[in-house]
Amino acid sequence: MGIHPIYAHISYLPNLASQNQEIYEKSIECFSLEIERCKILGIPNFVVHGGSYKGGNLEQGLKTYIKSLLTGLEVSNDKVKILIENSSGGKNSITGSLENIGRIMNEIGDPEVLQFCFDTCHGFGSGYDLRDFDSVQKTKNEIEHNMGINSLTLIHANDSLGELNSFRDRHEHIGLGNIGEEGFRVMINDKSLRRIPWIIETPVDERRNDKDNLTYLRLLRK
Ligand SMILES: [Zn+2]
Repeated sequence: MGIHPIYAHISYLPNLASQNQEIYEKSIECFSLEIERCKILGIPNFVVHGGSYKGGNLEQGLKTYIKSLLTGLEVSNDKVKILIENSSGGKNSITGSLENIGRIMNEIGDPEVLQFCFDTCHGFGSGYDLRDFDSVQKTKNEIEHNMGINSLTLIHANDSLGELNSFRDRHEHIGLGNIGEEGFRVMINDKSLRRIPWIIETPVDERRNDKDNLTYLRLLRK
């Protein structure tokens, strides 16, 4: 069908930062299997979530998560890029914080195969404002400071039903949530953000479907 580029997404159960040995082993098994599938199918990009370090502390969680990623990169053998997606944060979460994601990426230090996917709804939920020009610049500066803007190679474009810093992960149609139209207008017209692919993960309901949200985004683009 000529669709390019293609991104696969890890399933929702694995917890790559788990402090529970059994859950950790199952998570690694699933993670490795999904990367193998990407290799077989020729899918060059694989998006992963952070994880919860429940039962341990942040440092232990980071250590476990980095170990998981290194295992994944070994399975990938440079065939599949791994993208860490930010989460909406909250208790025991690692990837709600851009600082943590930056630490992980810098520690592994392989920008060719380990990159960053920014989900606008998750970012907003974990306290990174995106509602107007100044707040988008500030959030972009955070990305630049922590992992470098060039490591950002994918956007998940979703508006947010939750408030800023609410740690809520509830996606809303573009422009109808708390980020709002102005925030998306700024982002879609920003040079460093519009040069990379965007994927919408917005709801499908009686108000809009995927095509409607894409049309809406295109209307905001100057
Ligand atoms: Zn997402």
